[in-house]
Amino acid sequence: MVTNKKCGRCGEKALVKLSYTKRIYCNECFIRMIEKRIRKDLRINKKIGEKINLLHDDSKEFRIARLFLKNIFGSYKKIIEVKKANKKTLIATNLDREIKKHLESYLKNETFRKNNNNNVLNNVLEEEIIKVCQIKKLSIGKKEIKNELIETIEKKYSGTKFALAKSFEKIIS
Ligand SMILES: [Zn+2]
Repeated sequence: MVTNKKCGRCGEKALVKLSYTKRIYCNECFIRMIEKRIRKDLRINKKIGEKINLLHDDSKEFRIARLFLKNIFGSYKKIIEVKKANKKTLIATNLDREIKKHLESYLKNETFRKNNNNNVLNNVLEEEIIKVCQIKKLSIGKKEIKNELIETIEKKYSGTKFALAKSFEKIIS
């Protein structure tokens, strides 16, 4: 919790402090920043059909994905929650989980099957998803099991997770 500090974007009272940046945000600007990032990923990397099938796995990622997809598409697209995924189903994840999967398969010298096109929130940190849950009063539930190596490097060089996500994108594409 940040007190007596002002949002770097609008000057309102800032409540959101993230580990990777000195910039602090008010709740609204923070949510807007995350939504913008999700929009960009949807626009560039995803094929969204008439309807959106979203896997309902009862995770915080699912709840946040549903929230943002509803905000982004409004009444233009119907969001159908499904219990089983097929090729067209969107699956909510987080950036931590994705880089961990990539790094581990990279270290084991396995080829990583690219199925990023179905992932949403793959460019949002778990830390950010938790903040959104807190702001929107949604339950958090299970937390990600972190990769110690990544966490150690991130602590020393903040922003490493975003950098890793970008390089893995380049490696596999
Ligand atoms: Zn603000």
